[in-house]
Formats: sequence, C-alpha cells, structure tokens
Amino acid sequence: MVNRFDVIVIGSGFGGAIMGCRLAEKNHRVLILERGRRWPVEDYPRKAGDAWFYDPNLPVSCNGWIDLRIFGDMSVIQGAGVGGGSLIYANISVEAPPEIFKVGWPPEITYRELKPYYDLVARTMNVQEIPSNQVPRRFDLMKEAAEKIGHGDRFGPLPLAVTFDKNWSYDLEDPFNERHSKTFTNAQGQEQGTCVHLGMCDLGCPVKAKNTLDLNYLPLAEQHGAKIRPLHIVKTIEPDAGGYKVSFDRIKDGRLIPGSETAAKVVVAAGSLGSTELLLRCRDQYKVLPRLSPFLGRNWSSNGDFLTPAFYDDREINPSQGPTISSAIDFLDGSENGARFFIEDGGFPDLLEGYLEEVSKSAKGSRSKRFLLRRLAKHRARKPPFSNVMPWFAQGIDAADGRFFLGRKWYAPWKRTLKLDWDIGRSKQLIDGIVAMHKRLSEATGGDPWVPPTWTVLRNLVTPHPLGGCNMGVTPENGVVNHRGQVFGYDNLFVVDGAIIPEAIGRNPSRTIGALAERAAALIE
Ligand SMILES: Cc1cc2nc3c(=O)[nH]c(=O)nc-3n(C[C@H](O)[C@H](O)[C@H](O)COP(=O)(O)OP(=O)(O)OC[C@H]3O[C@@H](n4cnc5c(N)ncnc54)[C@H](O)[C@@H]3O)c2cc1C
Repeated sequence: MVNRFDVIVIGSGFGGAIMGCRLAEKNHRVLILERGRRWPVEDYPRKAGDAWFYDPNLPVSCNGWIDLRIFGDMSVIQGAGVGGGSLIYANISVEAPPEIFKVGWPPEITYRELKPYYDLVARTMNVQEIPSNQVPRRFDLMKEAAEKIGHGDRFGPLPLAVTFDKNWSYDLEDPFNERHSKTFTNAQGQEQGTCVHLGMCDLGCPVKAKNTLDLNYLPLAEQHGAKIRPLHIVKTIEPDAGGYKVSFDRIKDGRLIPGSETAAKVVVAAGSLGSTELLLRCRDQYKVLPRLSPFLGRNWSSNGDFLTPAFYDDREINPSQGPTISSAIDFLDGSENGARFFIEDGGFPDLLEGYLEEVSKSAKGSRSKRFLLRRLAKHRARKPPFSNVMPWFAQGIDAADGRFFLGRKWYAPWKRTLKLDWDIGRSKQLIDGIVAMHKRLSEATGGDPWVPPTWTVLRNLVTPHPLGGCNMGVTPENGVVNHRGQVFGYDNLFVVDGAIIPEAIGRNPSRTIGALAERAAALIE
C-alpha cells in the first residue's frame, strides 16, 4: 500500500505549524489536520452569540475560539483553530531561563543547543520589543513597583511577536483608531497591519498586528505544498503498512463524517492536553498503540500561573490598552524564599465595545436609545472600564507532578474521559510566593490587591500554559519521547509540542516549544 502523504501532522499550533512548515520545505508531502476552524478577522469573537467556545463533546455546534477544560482544582485554557494557541496568546515570545535545562531534561537539550532554534523562531515570527515611545501605563507601573521594592534591575521589556510602527504614539489624535495602523506585506507574503494598541491580543487583533502562525509558518508550509485541513478531529493513530493510519471525524454540513489518511510518519502536535489524550486513548481505549510508555500522562505542569488584580484609587492603568503583556520582573533565581517566578503585567480585552455595537444595532429606530448609547460610548472612550485595575500576572516553576489518565464519570461509566490527578501540595509554596510578591508590588505603588477566593478558599488554579503529559526522557521508564520527539517503541511516530516539555519553564513557553520543533524538524531527513 502506498502512503498518500509522507507526514501527517496533528494540530497546527507551535509544534504542528513549525514541523509542518520545515518538513514541507524539505519536500515531504505534508498534511496538517486541525480540529478547529480557520479564523478570518471578521469571524473573531466579539459579542454574545459569536463562536466563543470549543467544546470537545459538541464539536459540530461548538467549535469556537476558547477551549476551557475544568479538572476539579485545575482549569486549562487553550486555543482551537488553524494557528493553535498563537491565535489566542498574548504574543510573548521569550526564551526559557538557561538553568532550567539542567534538571529533568534529556542531556541533548541544553540552552546552548536550543539557542540557534530560538533565534530562528524569533526571525520567522518577527519578534521585537515594544518601542520605548509607546509603552502602556502597566509597563510604567511594573517598572515603578520593581524600583520601589528595591529590584529595579530585575525589570525589563519582553520580546513580542507583534509588529509595531515606531511612529505610532499615545499622543496621536484618536490614537486607537484603526486608520493609524500601517498595512504591509510580511516576509511570508501575508498582509498585516501595525499595532495601534487596541488591547485585543487574546481575542484576535483586528488590524493583524499579531504575528500569528497562520500569518508566517503556516502560509510558508502551504507555499511548499503542505495541505491544511481545518475542522478535522483526529481520533486514532494506528500502525499500517510500514507507516500509520490516522482516523478522524470531519465537521461538515452540521455533522461528523469519519475518514482516514495514511502516511509514513506522523507528528502528534495537538498540545499538552490534546496529544496526551489522543495517545492515552490510542493506548488504553482503542489499544492500537499498546507499546506506548507507562510514563504517558505523568509529570504534567501548569507552569505555576497566577493572577492577582489590584485596585488603584487615583491611578489610571487602562489594562485594555496596549499589547496584553509587555514587561516582566524576574525572580526565577529563587531569591524569594526559594520560590522561583516571573511577574508580568496582564491586560484584558475591552468587550464593552462589541456589546455597545450590538445593542446600538438593536436600538435602530429609537432616537433616545441611540443618544444614550452614543453618550455611553463617549464616556467609555474617555474612561475605559476597569481603568484603575492592574492585573498582576505571574508564572513559575511548579512541581510538575500532575497526572492525566482516562477515567470514568459515575453518571456515564461507559465513556472514558480525560481526568487530571493534581495536588497543590508541592506547588503551594510557589503560589504563596507569587501572591506575596503581587501584594508587595501593589502596596508599594498604592494599590489594593485582591487575592481571589478561588485561591484563598478553594485552592483552584487556572492555566493558559499547560506543559507535559508526553514528556521527553532518556528511556521509556522516564519519558514518552526522546530528545527529538520520537516516541519510544514506535519508529516514525513523533510528539512535538508543549506535551513533551518535561518540567515547568517559569516563563511563557511558546518560543521554547517552537525551538524544540525547529530542532526536531532539522533532525528529520
Ligand atoms: C489566553 C492565552 C494567552 C497565552 N499567552 C501566551 C504568551 O503570551 N506567550 C506564550 O509563550 N504562550 C502563551 N500562551 C500559551 C501558548 O498558547 C501555548 O503554550 C502554545 O500554543 C502551545 O503550543 P502547542 O503547539 O503545544 O499547542 P497549541 O498551540 O495549543 O496547538 C495544538 C493544536 O492542536 C489542535 N488539536 C487538539 N486536538 C486535536 C485533535 N484531536 N485533532 C486535530 N487537532 C487537534 C488544537 O486545536 C490546536 O490548534 C497563552 C495561552 C492562552 C490560552
């Protein structure tokens, strides 16, 4: 039997887009299967009724922007769509701290080894820092707070996958008007615009200033012949005629249509949860990959994410203006009672605009309503909502001791569901350290921190940075894949995405996932 493709890549986020692109450049016939849709700008979710959520149990009717999973005390947010997490992410493209590679990683993976690949990701994604003439107020507050607690030297701007125009400034007349965004064609031939600080990064940039994977690596892959099929949910991978058969459900005409394709090689790049679940099902439920390592699902990390909002009486922060995150204060050296963390400023999108637009449409014909809405919109422009809130954000080195497995729900015992065994025990010191620092930074700048009861009472956490599940190791006893992403026990089967990261990184992980993917692709003939 002839394999129709040389490589099937499952998922189109950082791991999948980069593997797909680089292997297509090497003349492999590449097929990328992605469960989510393609997202043109006009489809980005903005108002009630838009496609906000992706529900893996109802993918036909619910294949939107955000995939939120709740596993008891731990919730995970992920993207879904062509471009994966790059669609929803805050564009931070930062290297991991060099020291983290010393423990828990295969010896081949060192900072020195990854450095050329880190640089390659930065070049391809056009990574840059925010120009000094256009830093948002959150940036200034971060700097001031670091200085006030005596750690000004730990503060710095973050590298961002955003295209800025150095001539844009907050002093322009009507600065956030999209007419100030300059259109240009990027290195991959795609049309983009420059950043006008609309603060919508996590919900899709209306002027395409975010350098997302669907604007760089994925078009490059297509230019080299790769085929991308959105709305294809992969269900199983099984050995077949010297290669693999990948079976999927395709969403079409309001229903799921089963199908399959074959290839000599398969790259699983469905993200930490997606890849882990797919392989667990292949091993334990469908029993088509029985030799997968017993380590599968283990040593999962939430990357120690935490958010503390602080309220300022007399200070405008405007968290909905500017890139969602732009700077950091680095405590990853463990100088704070051993807790190792990285403080960032967090922003969030202003959804009132979409709401006002929607209501004003429904107010057609009513003069008084339209007048009221115009006044509201004017007030909003002068004083944006939550203008005095600082969302202090952080991530850190947690214990990376979660375990995913397939369990059953008492009310539906015939179904096997992805479950997480997570205990805050060994990671509590980290979160307590972050909370203490958030309080200190807030109080040093006149803010009133509000540590959410979801933590103080319930010990619940939310992470947008899930890592691990199909960890890299040296043998099947301590990992699922080797340093190249090659699955132990199965030739030509790879996992290359956040699922293979064996320890917390303590910083935003996409650049490291990208560098590992660049390296894995470089090592495939
Ligand atoms: C709100 C938010 C903000 C973030 N901000 C940052 C940031 O600023 N910097 C940073 O470094 N990181 C950030 N992240 C995290 C970042 O997005 C992820 O670390 C990164 O996308 C993970 O890359 P990946 O390749 O492992 O998986 P993903 O990018 O998640 O890609 C996996 C892809 O596989 C698809 N998939 C899953 N299952 C299947 C299946 N069965 N069949 C077919 N396709 C499937 C998914 O739809 C997805 O497109 C953020 C995340 C969120 C949610």
